[in-house]
Amino acid sequence: MDDSTARRVLGIGASATREQARAAYKRRAKILHPDRHATTSDAARRDAERAMAELNEAWRALRSDTVPTANRGEPTDDHRAARPSRPRGCEICGHHPAVWIDIRSLTALVILHSTDRYAATLCKNCGTAIWRDVQARTLTLGWWGIPALFVNLAVLVNNCGYGVALRELAPPTTRVAGSPAPMSEPMALTKPVTARVLPWVATLSVVAAIVLVVLAAAWAQA
Ligand SMILES: [Zn+2]
Repeated sequence: MDDSTARRVLGIGASATREQARAAYKRRAKILHPDRHATTSDAARRDAERAMAELNEAWRALRSDTVPTANRGEPTDDHRAARPSRPRGCEICGHHPAVWIDIRSLTALVILHSTDRYAATLCKNCGTAIWRDVQARTLTLGWWGIPALFVNLAVLVNNCGYGVALRELAPPTTRVAGSPAPMSEPMALTKPVTARVLPWVATLSVVAAIVLVVLAAAWAQA
């Protein structure tokens, strides 16, 4: 794959550094990973597999050729690519209207936690499908630690803000002409978060545990 094709696939400009190429690769890999499209049609899954293979090839082509250090202070090509000033279509299916979302999920274990970030310009369908999976994941895995309990609340509030933006967005209509997005159709909608079992079980368990601790403390003081 030649240099300019690889940069177009990653959505970065000619002066992007290796760190910016890596960040663009990781950001796109999260939204295009075939696992995320496993419940959609065979054609959509094949599109996702092809898109992921192309993305991997683009990163392999650029990782050794790009300048390693970031030119801090100046606005970067990846930054512009990540938050475009002019409207364009969904990064997954190329349809418009599309909106920028920047959501997170937390995985917590006692005193440790790690965050996964999903940031992209997406149409209502692709955005909602990803939003639901990410929100369900953080409601299930994000509670299980002491700093994490509070971080997860902040993560949920942040995600809800983007959830509102997606709800208010009109459904995808047509594909933007010349869009480089890898899928031809918007993603199929996944199950709503409130219809999933694990987020409820995890969240209600944590609430029950907090109530028990508060009651035990009150009882011990009485
Ligand atoms: Zn889309």
